[in-house]
Amino acid sequence: MGNIESLPVRSDLVGREPYGAPHLDVPVQLNVNENAYPIPDIVVEAMRAAVDTHLAGLNRYPDREFTTLREHLVDYLGGVNDRAGTAVDLSPEMIWAANGSNEVLSHIAQAFGGPGRTALGFTPSYSMHPLITTGTGAEWVHADRDDDYGLTAEAVAAEVARVDPDIVFLCTPNNPTGTSLGLDVIEAAYENCSGIVIVDEAYAEFSRPALPSAMTLLEGRPRLVVSRTMSKAFACAGLRLGYAIAAPELIDTLRLVRLPYHLSDVTQVLACTALEHADLLLGNVDRLIDSRNAISTRLAELGFTVHPSDSNFVLFGGIARPAELWQKLLDRGILIRDIGIPHHARVNAGTEAETTAFLSAIGDIVADDPATLLSNH
Ligand SMILES: *Cc1c(COP(=O)(O)O)cnc(C)c1O
Repeated sequence: MGNIESLPVRSDLVGREPYGAPHLDVPVQLNVNENAYPIPDIVVEAMRAAVDTHLAGLNRYPDREFTTLREHLVDYLGGVNDRAGTAVDLSPEMIWAANGSNEVLSHIAQAFGGPGRTALGFTPSYSMHPLITTGTGAEWVHADRDDDYGLTAEAVAAEVARVDPDIVFLCTPNNPTGTSLGLDVIEAAYENCSGIVIVDEAYAEFSRPALPSAMTLLEGRPRLVVSRTMSKAFACAGLRLGYAIAAPELIDTLRLVRLPYHLSDVTQVLACTALEHADLLLGNVDRLIDSRNAISTRLAELGFTVHPSDSNFVLFGGIARPAELWQKLLDRGILIRDIGIPHHARVNAGTEAETTAFLSAIGDIVADDPATLLSNH
């Protein structure tokens, strides 16, 4: 950053670092958990045709309440829904949408956080949760996950009761660990505070079918909100569309903090078209799960510690020097993520070719230098 002190910037922002995964133009990019497969041609054509019919009308503001998009999201969630196939009764008033689930989370934090308030999260988790919280002037408090990055209902209940937060962030499957939470953990958080409980389900579509969505808990829980995104399984990270599901009163409150017309007409029409082709866009989820499982199996064979993942990435440990491994992979045209957990790194499940390239490169690196692996981990 430049000389920020020379500007009359908010004192609580001085010294902070912006969010930023390194963006490097290399052949194999496995660092930001996108869907590795491009949008299928049929969907590209449908998007082109749909946008075309809206272009002349761009002199007008878009639908502020994104009515058609809400209906499309209800159809999607009521139909394909989560991998557990649990049907949830939803209506358009229970749906919010914004430019990525990061904006959804920021709307929730603006409405329910702010100065003098507190948000609690269980780390390691998504680094944007504290940034979004403190951006509203609220205080961020974190508690540690257990050694295998899981969380029990008892631990969450005790921590939530102790902190009494205005907002609780739960992330399942969790980024960067890949671990999932049982519904009992979410219920425990809800029952032990009077604040908003956010369940960030950015990777829900990659979960084991036996793990139902927190959407199944919405009935009778007006302070619970589930956030999701089209950036990961849905293969639309560049579109910027995230959404939330909650009781109508909670959703309605978010209208107080959003900017007018926050969702452009182009975004709305592209998101609707994407949702109409959900089956095609989600068509590679099973292949990505296969890639993820292949990565887990092979990394364990090589001697790394592999954390079980319900997402489209794998967190692995037992790395002597993560920065060095990161660089050696980069030298071979492969970008993974050093997420700052000692002796760990995170890798995204790629296409079959990308996954093969990563596994053969890391195999060669370990063969060349067995000290890549931490001894006695
Ligand atoms: C990637 C990710 C998001 C999605 O962000 P978008 O703004 O929707 O692209 C949200 N939460 C978590 C935990 C993530 O990893």
